[in-house]
Amino acid sequence: MVRNQHDVVVVGGGVAGCFAAATAAVEGVDVVQLERKSRQKGGFIACGDAMKSPRDPSNYPGPIDMDAIASDEAVLVDSNIDRIEFWDDAVGVRKVLPYEDGSNVVDRYEFGQRLLEQAADLGVEQHYDTVVNEVVQNGRVTGVKAIRDGEPVTYGCDVLIDAAGAQSILQDMVGFESLDTPGDPTFEVPQYTHFGSAYREIIETDEPVEYHDAIVGKPLEELGYIWYFPRTPTEINVGLGFQMNKEPIPLVDRLRRDVETRPEYQKAAVAEKFDGKNKLGSAIALRRPLDSMVAPGYLAAGGAAGTTHPITGKGIRGAAYSGYSAGRAAVEAIEDGDFSEHGLWEHNRWLYREHGEAAKLASWDAYNVAANSIDVNVLRALTALLPEKEIRGIVGTSTEVDDLKSKLFVGAGLARNALSEFRAGTFDTLGVSKSELYDAIRSVGQTRDHVTAYERQYEAYPEDRSGFESWLSDRNRIDRDFYDALDLSTDEQKY
Ligand SMILES: Cc1cc2nc3c(=O)[nH]c(=O)nc-3n(C[C@H](O)[C@H](O)[C@H](O)COP(=O)(O)OP(=O)(O)OC[C@H]3O[C@@H](n4cnc5c(N)ncnc54)[C@H](O)[C@@H]3O)c2cc1C
Repeated sequence: MVRNQHDVVVVGGGVAGCFAAATAAVEGVDVVQLERKSRQKGGFIACGDAMKSPRDPSNYPGPIDMDAIASDEAVLVDSNIDRIEFWDDAVGVRKVLPYEDGSNVVDRYEFGQRLLEQAADLGVEQHYDTVVNEVVQNGRVTGVKAIRDGEPVTYGCDVLIDAAGAQSILQDMVGFESLDTPGDPTFEVPQYTHFGSAYREIIETDEPVEYHDAIVGKPLEELGYIWYFPRTPTEINVGLGFQMNKEPIPLVDRLRRDVETRPEYQKAAVAEKFDGKNKLGSAIALRRPLDSMVAPGYLAAGGAAGTTHPITGKGIRGAAYSGYSAGRAAVEAIEDGDFSEHGLWEHNRWLYREHGEAAKLASWDAYNVAANSIDVNVLRALTALLPEKEIRGIVGTSTEVDDLKSKLFVGAGLARNALSEFRAGTFDTLGVSKSELYDAIRSVGQTRDHVTAYERQYEAYPEDRSGFESWLSDRNRIDRDFYDALDLSTDEQKY
């Protein structure tokens, strides 16, 4: 058996893995990045390919030069997306939600390839064709075992960064309960119901689509959505995702059924380029970021840490900044020689308190909890009624701060609109009753209050490990209060 010793082992060659590995390597730390795919296939990731502007350095911290990556026209295939469109044909709804600071569609393969190249250029040693199949631990995580090119290899390390994506297999391998922690481990492995299942194809049309400068979402019969994200006016990333706590949807057939109804896709075919990788599916985290992303000798980042938007499922940016944070915290722990939860806590602290976006994701998860508690047809009627400003707040395209005035407007305005839409018969096809809709409107109010409560709680995330239990108990109190407000039984409670 070949044995290697490194300061840091990063598992995963996706966004989180590249940001983590590069951040640690530029600080002179010895980093190896392990990826099960070949070098040539690195970057083939199931994705809708939409991301916040790579040109804005405030979106993507760390040494990876996103501007250089985005300057490559093979990567940034559409930088003209200025809005989300939400279509629900059953109720004749078409909502147009402008982006405050734009979104972009990238070629996910080329983007992934450039990230791997940059990580290597910044000093990361990369081992491809390397499948990690065991975690080594002794009071703390001390490395992994893998099969590399068919040969068993052991990689020892001071810090293991788990960037193996949503439903990371590493989390099934670490015995968190057996690690040396001052109390119960702060790291808790997420349940499968906290994930979604998503699938996408890249198709080509004969004629340009009229929504080439928008990204389009449409509701599914279960909680989830279908998307059309144009890469070019004639090349569209079409896909769908749904939450795993609902009845499974046969993704490929369901997508096909949808595409067949669209006039603009009548002559469309799956694109032949990209080495046949035009049909890809994967799990997606649809939960709040983990309460703690650290364990002795171990850090989680990206999909493995749940830094994905819990409503839209967008996770590229969360993977980037949480990867950066993990790399940074690993370096600090190595400098201090402290690989305990306490020594690695900086990862949690930075993400929740200093950078703050993880706190926002955690608070937005309240909308996911509420949406899960509402029948999908009622939710569609509710979405049809919601003002665009409110939806923008939920899907994260607006950062406008709530004020009392807007709160009152939402409650009263929704009820008024509901009445007139019922009179007009708008919701007849959905079979939704007035009382169901009024209950859902009340839930929106309850949810907004709890979003604010969660945000405050996450902003007060403990500076160090010692404050965790007390913080968690306050956070759990908000959970209970929210579940009570939504009248959720124990089985229906997400956490
Ligand atoms: C269909 C779909 C559409 C999406 N659309 C969007 C979108 O439009 N915009 C957006 O921002 N986000 C989107 N997301 C989410 C986004 O893709 C993820 O949040 C993001 O890729 C997470 O990055 P990551 O680096 O954490 O994990 P991943 O990108 O999943 O990378 C993990 C890497 O680890 C490797 N790996 C896993 N296990 C092992 C092992 N045992 N040994 C070695 N290597 C291993 C994998 O091969 C992979 O390369 C979508 C997700 C899906 C599934």
